[in-house]
Amino acid sequence: MSVIAIYPGTFDPITNGHIDILERASGLFEKIIVTVANNPSKTPLFTDDERLVMIRESINHIPNTEAVMFSGLVVDFAIKTGAKAIIRGLRALSDFEYEFQMALMNHKLAPEVRTVFLMPNEKYTYLNSSLIRQLAQFNADVTEFVPDCVLQALTQKFGH
Ligand code: ADP
Repeated sequence: MSVIAIYPGTFDPITNGHIDILERASGLFEKIIVTVANNPSKTPLFTDDERLVMIRESINHIPNTEAVMFSGLVVDFAIKTGAKAIIRGLRALSDFEYEFQMALMNHKLAPEVRTVFLMPNEKYTYLNSSLIRQLAQFNADVTEFVPDCVLQALTQKFGH
């Protein structure tokens, strides 16, 4: 049975950890839609368009993936697109409580949509977008954690 999945997140910016999860998921699903949150209550470092462009460039080697912006409830988007699975990455125990709560609530809202957790390679377990933003702001070398286009965008953003 072929299943469409969505991979929701803020991706501010996309990192090699996100890409690792997508590469793992790509063999499991017919299509994966990376859904980039447009959340009015958050002020991301990168604009909607900047995040989307970086994601598209970083995932074009992964078959059956595409990226779109969305606002609203993740489960509503899943139902609208016919997705039966929501992919989330689980790095450490610290992710668990929040992810557990979200998965249970999403299940309550739309029982037909399943949350699937994937673990990244252990070298990405301590990596997240906010750490990358902080490191880049202070001119630390983040080359091994982000795709080239993100590295360039960070360099431009912080003027290093
Ligand atoms: P959100 O604001 O929804 O947490 P993120 O862009 O931070 O958006 O994360 C999107 C998804 O990617 C989440 O499921 C998160 O756990 C996962 N993720 C983020 N960084 C990593 C990483 N280094 N390894 C594996 N999964 C990750």
